[in-house]
Amino acid sequence: MGKTRTTSDLLQRRQRLLGPAYRLFYEEPVHLVRGEGVWLFDPAGERYLDVYNNVASVGHCHPHVVGAIARQAAHLNTHTRYLHEAVLDYAERLLAMFPPEIGNVMFTCSGSEANDLALRVAETCTGGTGFIVTANAYHGVTQALAKLSPSLGLPIDPGCPVRLVPAPSECGNPGASFAAGVCKAIEDMRAHGIQPAALLVDTIFSSDGVFPDPSGFLQPAVAAIRAAGGLFIADEVQPGFGRTGTHMWGFQRHGLVPDLITMGKPMGNGHPVAAMAAKPELLAEFGRRSRYFNTFGGNPVSVAAGLAVLDVIENEGIMANAATIGAYLQGGLREIAGRYPLISAIRGAGLFIGIELCRDGKPATQDAARIVNELRKRHVLISAAGPQSNVLKIRPPLVFGRDHADLFMATLDQVLADLRLVQA
Ligand code: PMP
Repeated sequence: MGKTRTTSDLLQRRQRLLGPAYRLFYEEPVHLVRGEGVWLFDPAGERYLDVYNNVASVGHCHPHVVGAIARQAAHLNTHTRYLHEAVLDYAERLLAMFPPEIGNVMFTCSGSEANDLALRVAETCTGGTGFIVTANAYHGVTQALAKLSPSLGLPIDPGCPVRLVPAPSECGNPGASFAAGVCKAIEDMRAHGIQPAALLVDTIFSSDGVFPDPSGFLQPAVAAIRAAGGLFIADEVQPGFGRTGTHMWGFQRHGLVPDLITMGKPMGNGHPVAAMAAKPELLAEFGRRSRYFNTFGGNPVSVAAGLAVLDVIENEGIMANAATIGAYLQGGLREIAGRYPLISAIRGAGLFIGIELCRDGKPATQDAARIVNELRKRHVLISAAGPQSNVLKIRPPLVFGRDHADLFMATLDQVLADLRLVQA
């Protein structure tokens, strides 16, 4: 049976069994059967350089994480309604990574569940119902979060107490302009009798097109929501666990202490582990009014995965690598950008880099899609972000090395040249 036939069989089965809501990456979908470090392998044993997956952050199938999961799965797996030491050890280690004001952590299975819980806590503690998110935000799959995820493209219900603010811009004074958007949203809520509950942002603004700088620009917006009686929820699902290279969490780059922090994706290196960390005074009120139990959240196997990920981050210099290789990549990409006017900006922190493409001053959506698909043909996996999908999203596992960066950049350079994207 030829490769094409196998792929089309899989596509048909998938469509028939999973239904129409699922989307695949790439014009020519990739079929993967194995992963190791920064490499993914198809059924023919062909390897693909992973420049995109932030979940397997310490490397696909890291043996320390795999071993910890397997050992615990063979020993005991229950839930948090029995006493178990590991969940407490994990909570202690996580909380030690946050500012001292953050004193409690609650476990979930996905970033969506963590954000959903944060919304409930924010509503309970502020008495408000209004949430502010960025114009192309993504925060999760639940009914509540779909309304706070404009990147899903759902129609906005005019009666909904959600307000969208423009993503931070690089021009002028990003701190002042972002805060101006938040203040306007607060005023509009007030005009409609809505009390603000929280400002919820991904602290690297991934789906908005990657906006990490200048560090500190979030401060005036956070001051504004707090002055209005709302909370600041830092969604760390994307930048958390050292990806930005200089800090474990995106909010630290802004010199802020959030009220609630949500995390997920890289937390279990592929095992579904996520959490919400909080100021204890907020949870005191929440816990007084309601109880919390999540069948799988914080189970011993998930906790073993989470603990093993922290071991690897600490023992293998993961964050320092993100800083070094991230800087190396940004340097090389800037050199490439000098030769291709299509590249209008490069933004990034550590191993989270956005390459913005514009043609005649307009977002180059089609060029971005062509580049992503051409790279895939050459076995290099990336994707695109931003409201117009014109920002190439570079977000590899954090064990990405200099040789991997060189291979990625050489392939990108070749694709740009082959597509004749060198403009007059
Ligand atoms: N927040 C952000 C910023 C995300 O990028 C995502 C997932 N892409 C989520 C929340 C939701 O996480 P999950 O898919 O684990 O529910």
